[in-house]
Amino acid sequence: MTRTPSGTLPRMLETEDVDVVVVGAGLAGLRCARLLEDAGSRVCVLEARDRVGGRTYAAQVGASTFDLGGQWIGPAQRRVTRLVAELGLETFPTFTEGRKVFVSGGRRRTYGGEIPNLSVLQLLRMQLALTALERRRRHVPPTDPMRAPDAEALDAMTLETLRARYRLDAPTRGAMDAALRTIFGAEASDLSALFFLAYLNAGGGLLALAGARGGAQEARIVGGAHSIARRLAEGLDVRLSAPVRRVVRTKGSVEIEADGLRVRARRAVLAIPAPLLPRLRFEPALEAPRASLLARGFMGATTKVLALYDEPFWRAEGLSGELVTGDGPISVTFDNTSHDGAQPALVGFVVGRHARELSALSKEAAEARVRGALARAFGRRAATPSALVLHDWSAETYSGGCPVGLYGPGALTSGSAHLRAPEHLLHFAGTETAREHTGYLEGALESAERAAAEVLAATRA
Ligand SMILES: Cc1cc2nc3c(=O)[nH]c(=O)nc-3n(C[C@H](O)[C@H](O)[C@H](O)COP(=O)(O)OP(=O)(O)OC[C@H]3O[C@@H](n4cnc5c(N)ncnc54)[C@H](O)[C@@H]3O)c2cc1C
Repeated sequence: MTRTPSGTLPRMLETEDVDVVVVGAGLAGLRCARLLEDAGSRVCVLEARDRVGGRTYAAQVGASTFDLGGQWIGPAQRRVTRLVAELGLETFPTFTEGRKVFVSGGRRRTYGGEIPNLSVLQLLRMQLALTALERRRRHVPPTDPMRAPDAEALDAMTLETLRARYRLDAPTRGAMDAALRTIFGAEASDLSALFFLAYLNAGGGLLALAGARGGAQEARIVGGAHSIARRLAEGLDVRLSAPVRRVVRTKGSVEIEADGLRVRARRAVLAIPAPLLPRLRFEPALEAPRASLLARGFMGATTKVLALYDEPFWRAEGLSGELVTGDGPISVTFDNTSHDGAQPALVGFVVGRHARELSALSKEAAEARVRGALARAFGRRAATPSALVLHDWSAETYSGGCPVGLYGPGALTSGSAHLRAPEHLLHFAGTETAREHTGYLEGALESAERAAAEVLAATRA
């Protein structure tokens, strides 16, 4: 890996020639680069940060290494499961034994099973809403959401408007909000109903996305999910600290200008979060429907909370470490103890409007709110972890938020054909462009495979 110091553009930049330039060394960019290299292309990857991995990032905290970005994989996520094994990484199951905690309106209850113990009527309403959403999402193809029945009407409304039809009361809405906020980093009022349904369909439904056992939070990777990117990058030509600013297309080549270097290639793969694309200067400009789609995209807001303890005291109390609450600031927690049990931990997510509010506070004030939420769920011991980390992804310039780029009403109607279609020498990767498991590590890999196949088909033609 070559390190390139960041800085202003020198007056005379030499242009390097390669077959394909990939922008972004997250999972999508790195996987795409590796597939292209394996097929015989000369590839250069330009990465803005001084590290690879993008939305995966791990750090040593207490007695173990913890992911501060993406971490879990689920059984339906075939590509990432296979890649993890190929790279010689090991997985271990998320701890789920015991009862879960539900806090609503300040009232704490514990429950078993998948859905908080609401009253019979509340459960019935929740079930009705879930069944209706499940039925609807099956008719929204993630590859082309505009083919869904009522696509334009669904895209014209927010998820909040759609959900209002089911007349959920406060605790039931709270339980659902906790799941929605965690999956999207956003509020139901932020999202296009059509985008929401397509996203659910890409990931196998709401319960699959929200669940631990058998769901998207089933397993973690020893050493952290960040190890996937670090291993993928080995042997690739990755230029770090090289934020791309300008993309110039001519008839037969594309020139990419980053801080301190310029690379010319036959094709470029842009593997950065879709809402960040409008920051680049495109010459000529991107086609109008794509520009319109991208202009309506935004990143979710998430602060990931890691709380370390000397003992996993919640286990001794018969609790799994899972919390669901609509009260905020934390929406959900899970047991996040290290694979060897040496470092007991809880992980939590402050998401959507709670994350935006927390971002505006001082470190001390933000920590105090998080300690309070942990104490309300797990008792006073939870308020005094041996270490407390709050990682605010909205403060990361080259992510702009997380876990995923999102679309509000009207975006898909204006440009859904451009979610992932190539455009004169440019190809688009990244989990936002995935047809399966959009928003997840798996989606990043799926997008990489598609983009690599597109480039190979185009350059061999
Ligand atoms: C807190 C958190 C929790 C998550 N939890 C999970 C989980 O448990 N399971 C799961 O499957 N997924 C999870 N995700 C989502 C998952 O991490 C992402 O879907 C995935 O990592 C996206 O990969 P990507 O390559 O598409 O994008 P990214 O990882 O965002 O990679 C894009 C790269 O482009 C770089 N870049 C941006 N702008 C420029 C520029 N101008 N020039 C050059 N480079 C640029 C960025 O620095 C970055 O390295 C989580 C994400 C977060 C942040």
